[in-house]
Amino acid sequence: MKKTINSKLMFKAAKKVIPGGVNSPVRSFDAVGSSPVFIKKAKGSYLFDEDGNKYIDYINSFGPLIFGHSNKEISNAAIKAIDKGTTFGACHKNEVKLAELIKNKIPSMEMTRLTSSGTEATMSAIRLARAFTNKDKIIKFEGCYHGHVDDLLVQAGSGLTTFGSPSSPGIPKDSTKNTIIAEFNNLNQLKKIFSKNKNKIAAIILEPVPANMGVVLPRKNYLNELIKLAHSNKSLVIFDEVISGFRISIGGAQEYYKVRPDITCIGKIIGGGFPIGAFGGKKEIMSILSPSGPVYHAGTLSGNPVAVAAGIKTIELLEKKEKRIYSDIEEKALYIKTELEKLQINSIKINQIGSLLTLFMTKDSTVDNYKDVLKCDNKIYGKFFNNLIKLGIMIPPSQFEAMFISDSHSRNDIMNTVKGFKKAIKSLGLK
Ligand SMILES: *Cc1c(COP(=O)(O)O)cnc(C)c1O
Repeated sequence: MKKTINSKLMFKAAKKVIPGGVNSPVRSFDAVGSSPVFIKKAKGSYLFDEDGNKYIDYINSFGPLIFGHSNKEISNAAIKAIDKGTTFGACHKNEVKLAELIKNKIPSMEMTRLTSSGTEATMSAIRLARAFTNKDKIIKFEGCYHGHVDDLLVQAGSGLTTFGSPSSPGIPKDSTKNTIIAEFNNLNQLKKIFSKNKNKIAAIILEPVPANMGVVLPRKNYLNELIKLAHSNKSLVIFDEVISGFRISIGGAQEYYKVRPDITCIGKIIGGGFPIGAFGGKKEIMSILSPSGPVYHAGTLSGNPVAVAAGIKTIELLEKKEKRIYSDIEEKALYIKTELEKLQINSIKINQIGSLLTLFMTKDSTVDNYKDVLKCDNKIYGKFFNNLIKLGIMIPPSQFEAMFISDSHSRNDIMNTVKGFKKAIKSLGLK
């Protein structure tokens, strides 16, 4: 039995002063019927908790840590930056360098604005798209997450053009009346939405590879056709690559699938573990931002020198190791997938792309959209999670999050993970 007393006591104290005891809901382990472990430190592929337990970490802080925890070179870059001042409220050289690096790797981001979070990036991208097209409506997909922006916190609702009702209290209906919900991977439905809303749709926003309902892959040509459809209706396409950017390949999902959105949002990896976000796109679109245009966007800590330094170092390391790292992390994810598929368990379906994967607890043969995802058995996932915790393996505490493989996961970690998965699956009696 693992010792958990310290985490339990800390959680008890946390609940008195922090709502639900957490600063972001998924951390509560509610979705897996458990209570959270408190992390004392993290290094490489491992988390160490306050009770002295060690875990192979696949949460990866939900995406930023492609080199694992506390990478020396990235930490050193941040420390060096701190020594020169933690924030200036003024221009500095490295902001330009980061924007150039981003443009170099993601050419559709001809110009980039930095923010302090992915949420700010999507919020601003939507404002920008609405202003540029002079239209109000946006299309978002069920199960895609774009941060906690009012207009985008809508997901439920079946039917063809279900106008979003907010999925959180506190969001006025007026905020979501211009948000149209669509089903991912369903092009016909999208066509119908466009023909019902002629000249009203500013943009489609999507995760090109959704990873916030578990990993779901776009069907062949789907992204291409979606962009064509939007453009033929004079609407913009916003790729939310906050997870997929610099993750699926160095140039993100748009490089992987050879498509070009109008606006892209990134975050996570480009901050090297520090708070960051960015949105960028065509020059003519980005140029309407204040002060070169009328659309307002700002931020006290936008372009923060510490986050920017860590981000630059991360991208430079990725660039230097590109050939090896992306095939390496993919190989590790594929190994886990193939080893588990050999067991021929009918009630687990694995979606994987690059270093992202999700084990869906479902008997369906494909998981292609949110409706498929909702058919998964959360109880079984919760038991699976808790079995793994006991074995020192930390997968995401929800069926709806992706597992992230980082460069720091060793062959040994991966072998032990497969062993642990097999054991956990066996004790669940899954067939
Ligand atoms: C994490 C995430 C966001 C929000 O980023 P924050 O930094 O948490 O605000 C937006 N979009 C996607 C796809 C994400 O995964």
